[in-house]
Amino acid sequence: MRTWHREKINAKLLRPIGAALVIMPATVKLIAAVVIVSLVLATAWLVYTMGGIRYSWSHLIYIPVVLGGFAFGIRGGILAGIASGLALGPFMPIDTLTGEMQTYLNWIYRLIFLCINGALVGALSHLYRRYLHKLEWLRTHHEGADVLNRSGLTQALDAKIRKTPKGITLIVSVIQLNAFLDIQNTFGSSFSTRLLAQIIERTKQIVPPRSLLALIQDDRLAIVTDDVESRQLALARIEGIFDESYIVDGVPIHVDASVGAAHFPDHAQTAEGLLQKACVAMYSASLSKSPSALYNIANDRTNKENLSLLGALPGAIARGELSVWYQAKVALSTNDVAGSEALVRWLHPQRGLITPGLFIPQVEETMLIDRVTRNVIATAFADAAAWRTAGYPQRVAVNISVRNLRDHGLLDAIDLNARRCGLMADDIELEITESAVMMDVDHGIRVISELRERGYRVAIDDFGVGHSSLAYLQKMRASALKIDQMFIRTLAVDPNNQKIVRAILLLARSLGLETVAEGIEDPDSLSLLREWGCDYGQGYAIHRPAPEPEFRHFLSRIGELPLYRVKRS
Ligand code: C2E
Ligand code: MG
Ligand code: MG
Repeated sequence: MRTWHREKINAKLLRPIGAALVIMPATVKLIAAVVIVSLVLATAWLVYTMGGIRYSWSHLIYIPVVLGGFAFGIRGGILAGIASGLALGPFMPIDTLTGEMQTYLNWIYRLIFLCINGALVGALSHLYRRYLHKLEWLRTHHEGADVLNRSGLTQALDAKIRKTPKGITLIVSVIQLNAFLDIQNTFGSSFSTRLLAQIIERTKQIVPPRSLLALIQDDRLAIVTDDVESRQLALARIEGIFDESYIVDGVPIHVDASVGAAHFPDHAQTAEGLLQKACVAMYSASLSKSPSALYNIANDRTNKENLSLLGALPGAIARGELSVWYQAKVALSTNDVAGSEALVRWLHPQRGLITPGLFIPQVEETMLIDRVTRNVIATAFADAAAWRTAGYPQRVAVNISVRNLRDHGLLDAIDLNARRCGLMADDIELEITESAVMMDVDHGIRVISELRERGYRVAIDDFGVGHSSLAYLQKMRASALKIDQMFIRTLAVDPNNQKIVRAILLLARSLGLETVAEGIEDPDSLSLLREWGCDYGQGYAIHRPAPEPEFRHFLSRIGELPLYRVKRS
C-alpha cells in the first residue's frame, strides 16, 4: 500500500480504534474483563428467565465471546467461549416451563463451537492488532533504515523534553550528508541504501545508549543526546563518523557531511524548534565550509522576529519608516569633513530604532534590497544637495549590497537621482563590500568598471576580511579601500592589527587607491592612522551616525569645534 494511502486510512479510520486496541492499558483490560463476565452472567440469567436455551435469547451469548476474542486475542476468545459454554451448560434447561434438560453432548458441542468462535475472533483481532502496530511503527520509523523518521523523532524528543529535569542539556545534532544525492544518482538507489545503512551503523556505535537516532530526510540524520560529554566532543565524535571512507560493493566512497547542533533549553524548547535551529546551524556550517557549527542566534536569518521584520518592510517603506543617518568621514591630513556615509535606519512604531544589522542581512537575500537601496540613494542624494545649497559641499557614500550588483536598473537610477539633485558624479561614492565583489568577481569587476566610467567613486568596504586576491584587487579599478573595523577598533593596543593596517595602507598606496579607516574609537588609533598616512577616518571617536538635522547642525558648527573631539553628536 502506498504510504500516503496507508497514512490516510490510519489517520481517519484505524488510529482511534487502533490506539484503543494496541495501547490497552491495564485499567481498560480490567473493565473489559468485568464487562465480559457480567455479560456472560446476564445472558445466562436472561436465557433462564426468558424461557431457556430453545429461545432466541440464547444467541446473545455470542456477544461476550466476540468481545473476549476482540479484546484479549485467541486466549481471551477461548476463555470467553468456555465461560459462555459453562453458563449455558448442563444445568440450563432447554425449556424452563416444561423443565426439559439438554443432553450433555449438546452443550459440549455448543461449548466447543463457542470456543472456536472466540479463538477465530481472537486470531482476527491479533492480526488486526499486529497490522496496527506495523502502521504505528511505519508512522514513526524509516522502513528501510530501521531508525526513527522525522515524525517519530519529534514525538520521542518532545517526550524526552518533558522528562528532562532542570539543569540538563539535550543536544540535537543534524547531519547533512553532502553530495549524497549525487552518489544516489551515480550509483543507483540500492547502492545508496547500502551506504546509508553503513553510515547509520557507524552512527549507532558512537551514540550513547539513551540517545535518539533518526533519518529525518533521505540524506539527513539527527541525533539527540544528553549532556553527558563535552559539547565539542559530541560534535567531534559525529565528525569522526566520516573520517574513514565507506566500502560499498567494493567501491570506496568518501562521504562529506555538515553538522549543526542546537541545545535544549538554550536555543529552543520544542522538538520542532530544536530541529529547525540545528538545521540553521548546519546550513551555516555548510556555508562557512566548516564541518560543524553550533546554533548562533546572531547568524539566524530565519528566526521569527527577523522574518516578521522582513514581512513588515514593504509597508514600512511605503509609510516612510526608513530614514537615513549620516556619519562623517574626515580627511586625516587636513581635518576637513570630506564626506559622509549614508546608513539606513528603521524607525519601527513598536520596536523603536532598528539598526541595519538587524534587517539588512535578511533583506539582502530578497529583491526588497533594490527598493531599500533606491530609497537610500534618493534620500542621501537629496540631502547632499541640500547641504551643498546651505554651503557645505559634501561627498556622500551609499552602501551597495551584493544583490544590487545584479539590479540592471541600478546604474541608471544612480544617474537619474544624481541629475535630479544636481550632484556631480565625483560627489557620489558607492561602498561595495569586498565579500560582495568576491561572490562573483567578474560581474563585480564589470559593475565597478561601469560605475568608474560614469565618474562615480567606488570604495571597497570592510576590506581585509573578504578574501580578495591581489590580482583581482588590481583589476577592480576601485577608488578607495575601506579598512575593516575589525583591524581599527583595537589598533592602538594590538600590534598584529597595526602590522596588517600598515600593510594595507602600503598596498593601497602602491595600487593608487585612497584609504579610509572605519571604526576609529580612540584618539590613539586616530593619531597612528594619521601618522601612517591613511587618507580618511570614520568612527565614534570622530562622529557618531546621526539623523540628517543633527548632521547638518554638526556641519554648521564644524569651524567652532575642536575637531575629533566632537563625539556623541
Ligand atoms: P558599514 O557599511 O561597514 O558601516 C559602518 C558601520 O559601522 C555602521 O553601522 C556604523 O554605525 C558603524 N560604526 C561606525 N563607526 C564605528 C565605531 O567607531 N565603532 C563601531 N563599533 N562601529 C562603528 P550600522 O549603521 O549599524 O551599519 C551596519 C552595516 O549595515 C553597514 O556596515 C552596512 O554594511 C550595512 N548598511 C547600513 N546602511 C545600509 C544601506 O543603506 N544599504 C545597505 N545595503 N547596507 C547598509
Ligand atoms: Mg559602508
Ligand atoms: Mg564597513
